[in-house]
Amino acid sequence: MEKIKMKNKIVEMDGDEMTRILWRMIKDELLLPFVELNTEYYDLGLPHRDETDDQVTVDAGQAIKKWRVGVKCATITPNAQRVEEYKLKKMWKSPNGTIRAILDGTVFRAPILLSNVKPAVRNWKKPITIARHAYGDVYKGTEYRVPGKGKAELAFTGEDGTVFRETIYDFECPGVLQGLYNKDSSIESFAHSCFQYAIDTRQDLWFATKDTISKQYDQTFKLIFQDIYEKNYKTKFESLGIEYFYTLIDDAVARVIRSEGGYIWACKNYDGDVMSDMVSTAFGSLAMMTSVLVSPDGNYEYEAAHGTVTRHYYKYLKGEETSTNPIATIFAWSGAIRKRGELDANAPLVDFADKLEAACLGTLEGGTMTKDLASLWEGPKPTVVNSHEFILAIRAELERLLDA
Ligand code: NAP
Ligand code: MG
Repeated sequence: MEKIKMKNKIVEMDGDEMTRILWRMIKDELLLPFVELNTEYYDLGLPHRDETDDQVTVDAGQAIKKWRVGVKCATITPNAQRVEEYKLKKMWKSPNGTIRAILDGTVFRAPILLSNVKPAVRNWKKPITIARHAYGDVYKGTEYRVPGKGKAELAFTGEDGTVFRETIYDFECPGVLQGLYNKDSSIESFAHSCFQYAIDTRQDLWFATKDTISKQYDQTFKLIFQDIYEKNYKTKFESLGIEYFYTLIDDAVARVIRSEGGYIWACKNYDGDVMSDMVSTAFGSLAMMTSVLVSPDGNYEYEAAHGTVTRHYYKYLKGEETSTNPIATIFAWSGAIRKRGELDANAPLVDFADKLEAACLGTLEGGTMTKDLASLWEGPKPTVVNSHEFILAIRAELERLLDA
């Protein structure tokens, strides 16, 4: 078979530990035999980030802006223990944080469903996609402990010298204090990304905050969404028969649990952080979750939602067999390849991405899987394999689909 050609590049960001091992296997067995892979390679493995004083992460982020499509392997976010383990010059920042700051935008996470893995919530039949705003709020907050008696104030000094000042609290004892912010421009791009994604995937969009309590902050989110919806998307939504609605976050939680799934749930940064773990766990496993960052100017970064699976890596280093699930990392590649194909009007590339995903699902539905899924499996007794055997089984299925 002749290999599929690629016109433009995908930005490839390699990573750490077990996922770096899977990355190599996926390329060797599932991509390179079939596609003339055209990537711009950035090694975001921790040793190379340290060598380059983390410049490589910034360069990779800029490259995504140039090529519009990137695929990223999971990476270590260093803490004190990692500084020691890798003898780092510095406790480098989270690469995901650095790249999000360059691209801005929204992270969409959706579970991959299997017929024999039943969601913990009985009535969920279709995926629930969480759209998480990836900028500001508590992630860019300023906070400190209040040592004792005194007045806390919220002050803003305008460029022209106008000052707003409000008392937050007259402390009579020690306590805590936190200042948060967001920007209209970032909330607007969050809204555009969500409406656009709903149109692309033809799903309803739900948005929820706590504007009854947060009468300025959360209210701003609500109003910006409403305004952008009415001005730019209402007609398109109506013609597609999809719906946008806003509700309070506590009402949304109740509705989500009662629902069948099959919609996008847009969340502020913190809500999205928490709710995406809740939703993915209830659907089965983080290893069965797709994740894409969509920036307001139409750049796409695909990744797995899980980390570098450190515990499995240490076993692998000792020569022990590991059964790490590569599905989320394979779907990061198929997502990037499909998007590259769509942007370049390269139908064979899109078709390859579809078949790669179908091969994964076919292998799983046929009962061959990694250990993590076997424990959730409710069908006939599954065949449990190690990571490499699993990837080889997917390859066999992929070859069958490509021949057909
Ligand atoms: P993790 O790598 O997601 O793994 C946590 C546990 O979840 C694993 O020990 C494993 O459970 C299970 N698991 C996750 N992915 C799996 C897979 N593909 N197949 C099978 N089981 C899987 O999270 P972590 O251990 O908290 O973090 C490890 C490193 O990853 C940290 O250095 C962190 O900074 C980094 N991290 C990176 C990203 C990212 O780049 N996007 C995200 C999160 C964390 P069992 O051990 O029980 O089998
Ligand atoms: Mg989280």
